[in-house]
Amino acid sequence: MEKKQFQAESKRLLEMMINSIYTQREIFLRELISNASDAIDKMYYLALTDPNLVFDKDSYYIKVIADKNSRTLTIRDTGVGMTREELENNLGVIAKSGSLAFKKENDSKDGHDIIGQFGVGFYSAFMVADAVTVISKSLTGDSAYKWESTGTDGYTIEPYEKDTFGTEVILKIKDNTEEESFDEFLEDYRLKSIIKKYSDFIRYPIMMDVAGKRPKEGSDSELEDYQEEQRVNSMVPIWRKNKSELTAEDYENFYAEKHYGFDKPIKHIHISADGAVVYQAILYIPESIPFDYYSKEYEKGLELYSSGVLIMNKCPDLLPDYFSFVKGMVDSESLSLNISREMLQHDRQLKLIAKNITSKIKSQLQSLLKDEREKYEQFYKSFGRQLKYGIYSDYGTHKEVLQDLLMFYSSKEKKPVTLDEYVSRMPEDQKYIYYASGESNERIEKLPQTELVSEKGYEILYFTDDIDEFAIKMVMKYKDKEFKSVSSGDLGIEADDKQSDADSANNDNNELFEYMKSLLSGKVADVKASKRLKSHPVCLSADGEVTIEMEKILNAMPNNPNVKAEKILEININHTVFQSLKDAFEQDREKLNLYTALLYNQALLIEGLTIQDPVEFTNDICKIMV
Ligand code: ADP
Ligand code: MG
Repeated sequence: MEKKQFQAESKRLLEMMINSIYTQREIFLRELISNASDAIDKMYYLALTDPNLVFDKDSYYIKVIADKNSRTLTIRDTGVGMTREELENNLGVIAKSGSLAFKKENDSKDGHDIIGQFGVGFYSAFMVADAVTVISKSLTGDSAYKWESTGTDGYTIEPYEKDTFGTEVILKIKDNTEEESFDEFLEDYRLKSIIKKYSDFIRYPIMMDVAGKRPKEGSDSELEDYQEEQRVNSMVPIWRKNKSELTAEDYENFYAEKHYGFDKPIKHIHISADGAVVYQAILYIPESIPFDYYSKEYEKGLELYSSGVLIMNKCPDLLPDYFSFVKGMVDSESLSLNISREMLQHDRQLKLIAKNITSKIKSQLQSLLKDEREKYEQFYKSFGRQLKYGIYSDYGTHKEVLQDLLMFYSSKEKKPVTLDEYVSRMPEDQKYIYYASGESNERIEKLPQTELVSEKGYEILYFTDDIDEFAIKMVMKYKDKEFKSVSSGDLGIEADDKQSDADSANNDNNELFEYMKSLLSGKVADVKASKRLKSHPVCLSADGEVTIEMEKILNAMPNNPNVKAEKILEININHTVFQSLKDAFEQDREKLNLYTALLYNQALLIEGLTIQDPVEFTNDICKIMV
């Protein structure tokens, strides 16, 4: 018979499976059982809409059979089955190519990490088997088919005799080698414990024929062999269980079983609500960013169950965008089973659940921040940007929910701090919450504009994310304190000697500054003596709503709105350069033109802005050298 080849991606995945490390092998059973359960779920759905199909709960089950003589392990289900095409398309091609994409991007991570944490479904069978046979009869197909593969060399498909609908996956368990034993996957007790660990909550019975010895009837001492069919799983979904019965490991296993993420979650939230709306939920805050998180492909949402039956894989209406990183599921008996997507969106119960969930997530994040700071910081590194984005969007509607969750790097603490921490230690004479924007903490640290604020002993928050300043514009005030950029025209710092010096310098040198302003017309709105500079000769500041950092970001956008900050060139009158300017103004206008151009371009460079004509700039520098 002709052998068909696997797709290239599938082949790579198979290789990873075959060479996987020992400890994760057991999850193959979880994957095969979860597929069987999915297939029965599909049957259940069809029965909802097809009057000819009756879903008799008792005739649906999953059976696991180990046979030591033939070294086979069979997982049989009474689900929808697969047609020839489906066998070909579903088993010959990897469905979740996302996991491989992830592997490529994170090549430092070993393949087995992904197998263990993400789960790759059907192919995991090859971790323990050197041949896999799938016999399936579909509800919609003509006959049954047999699919067979011994690994990377391809697979075969041929017609087969089978009376009942459903699928049978038969694994030829690998032979033991000198280092490794595979016998455990043929031992009933071992299989039972794997099922208990990963698949206990599966809604359909998982049956096993269990053999044992028991006292012979009518005798006190004699034992007899017996074999009986036993249900192994409790069928109680984890979310219906009491929190006290569950361990952290149970929650982690559920996270992995459901393929919610590659990582271990930072926190789980188990909700059992029976107030105005009755529902159970298990939610997770992931540790790391899904590889597609900040892209258009990412879909937020929670699994939605109605009385234990999955009705939607990713229900987006349960989560606000700013908590789109949350994973998990919700089960409610208040929802109707065959509710359409459109109806669901307007469902009052669902809205109540969503609202409830949102406030639970918020309070859990707050307690994480309060009690487990390190974990919170780790979370914030991954998803802080999403929170800030949440503040910015919808015209700041959600700022009340989110502002307490924000963190920014502090000039004083040298680590991220919350707004509350900042405000609580503000000196009495400090009017504003000061921030400085820039590419990185290191660059902000060196900004001349921070000099006066730092000298005053005030703390400065460093804004290094594009979204920071925009989000803060939406917050406007925190605990009655307004935010102020260190580059803004008026810093609101009490007049001192330096200020009056600057004022009188402005008066005395009005003509010089006016002249420089005319040289820079169209580039800056004003040239002034600086009140904030200490050691640097020049800097730029901005008057008005748009700061220089915002101008940079807006202009980098695809449909550049061409917004300009109103820039002011500030000169440090205590710097020796100022004397040179004054002298040049009196004696040599040519020289003053040169100095003005140089100072302006320097200020641009400090801000991280591009200078219009770099060649002219370097020529100008050469001019003063000769
Ligand atoms: P996933 O379950 O995430 O889709 P798998 O690799 O586990 O990925 O399975 C691939 C596909 O093969 C499934 O989506 C399903 O269509 C089909 N499949 C696997 N096992 C069964 C089964 N026991 N019954 C019916 N279809 C199955
Ligand atoms: Mg699967």
